[in-house]
Amino acid sequence: MKTTMPGKPMFIAGKWVKKEEVIEVLNPQDNSFVSTVPSASKEDLLFAIGETKEGAKTAAAMPVHQRISVLYKAAMYIEKNKEEYAAVIALEGSKTIREATAEVKRCIQTLRLSAEEARRINGETISFDQSEGSEDRVGYYYRFPIGIIAAITPFNDPLNLVAHKVGPAIASGNAIIVKPATVTPISALLLAEAFEHAGLPSKILSVITGKGSVIGDLLVTHPDIRMVSFTGGLETGERIARKAGLKKLSMELGSNSPVIVLRDADIPTAVESSVSGAFYAVGQNCLGVQRIYIEEAVYETFSSLFVKRTHQYKVGDKMLDTTDMGPMINESEAIRVESWVDEAIDMGAKLLVGGKRNGAFYSPTVLTDVPPNCTIAKQEVFGPVVLLFPVLDLEMAIEKSNDVNFGLQAGIFTKDIDQAFQAIGKMDVGGIMINDSSDYRIDGMPFGGVKGSGLGREGVKFTIQEMTEPRVVSFKLSHKRST
Ligand code: NAP
Repeated sequence: MKTTMPGKPMFIAGKWVKKEEVIEVLNPQDNSFVSTVPSASKEDLLFAIGETKEGAKTAAAMPVHQRISVLYKAAMYIEKNKEEYAAVIALEGSKTIREATAEVKRCIQTLRLSAEEARRINGETISFDQSEGSEDRVGYYYRFPIGIIAAITPFNDPLNLVAHKVGPAIASGNAIIVKPATVTPISALLLAEAFEHAGLPSKILSVITGKGSVIGDLLVTHPDIRMVSFTGGLETGERIARKAGLKKLSMELGSNSPVIVLRDADIPTAVESSVSGAFYAVGQNCLGVQRIYIEEAVYETFSSLFVKRTHQYKVGDKMLDTTDMGPMINESEAIRVESWVDEAIDMGAKLLVGGKRNGAFYSPTVLTDVPPNCTIAKQEVFGPVVLLFPVLDLEMAIEKSNDVNFGLQAGIFTKDIDQAFQAIGKMDVGGIMINDSSDYRIDGMPFGGVKGSGLGREGVKFTIQEMTEPRVVSFKLSHKRST
């Protein structure tokens, strides 16, 4: 497998554009060189926006059957080249080749779902005569595209999270400019390649590779951008929300998701599911398990099995099929996680397993007795660290679960339907998984959070709702409506 590739141009309004100024893409495993991408300037972005204004008109005029055909063809192209796509995700990011292969599969699914949903963007008739004086009106509403969408995406799912914005945008007749994370831009460029091969008319899609600190403010504040669809951290999300002004916002942010394990749970299943949920993609996963609340009666059994299973996790070369966990996205992130763990231990937490760093690698780590006022108990760790807490009962578990500024997803393990319904009603989250960890998602469900976890929902059909506006049509008749 090739580990370096020629410099990749960026995709501006249907053309591949090179620049002298480039950004180096490095493999976080050993800092080896992977490739370069152009370092876009504000002028490049202004050019892209100008071209995309035309693209927005083309996109809105594209018949639905053509949108469907393009989306299916892009999915087929990725299917045909799936090994190359997976290798790029694994090389530029921190996923193992197994995790990268699963992401490519999901991306294909996301594009197929977008094709299917394109035919279902419907409105409904309106009973105007519900209002006195409107007996002579008939009409309906339908949904229309909003124009140009800016998609800003993070490093941790560099292909499928981009597809989650591009697929629905094309399905709903919008044009879209993607700004991928600077550390993992090549996967997004490969997605553009798939759409080029699929025959997407030029100027509908751009993937501009530039630093958020350079082109971010211009992108989110430009008046021709009618929606900012952002996936990333809370701090960046808040900055964008403050700056963007009067435009639609979709904010898919982070979390420090809780899982509750009750005394009647199937413990081996709860352990297996929570270990995978905590350490998938090195814990760099917005719905990764960070806090586990375990009823006291089963705490010892759960924690000893959890630690045993964590010990078996294979950390190493992410390109090997047998590896469970690769490096974090870079060494400074691993150092940050290390400092949060050290702070917790200094404040009284007990290390059950892990806590070791080697460059960008951080071992899967389990802590207990974590004091409530340390950083890792409140903030999103976005690394392979999980905290175990004994609790007296469900009520206490829910109270502690909710006592943070995040609320993306939660999991609860129990066979008691009454307890499950109590949790469903009382937990402040966008999704609650019964007998699964917080890390369960399919691409067609409404996905998003409350509080610091975001605004709006993704999941193809729901993204399409966010990316379209209803337009009301009323016909005034010369007579009163008769039926
Ligand atoms: P990040 O640092 O917030 O960056 C996300 C994106 O924002 C990158 O493309 C970044 O560009 C860009 N950006 C930075 N500053 C900007 C600015 N001033 N204006 C406009 N854009 C700007 O997040 P990350 O470290 O890549 O990703 C991790 C976070 O994403 C975690 O918090 C995770 O939970 C969250 N996440 C959420 C979901 C979800 O669906 N809820 C899914 C995945 C990840 P540069 O790379 O050039 O800085």
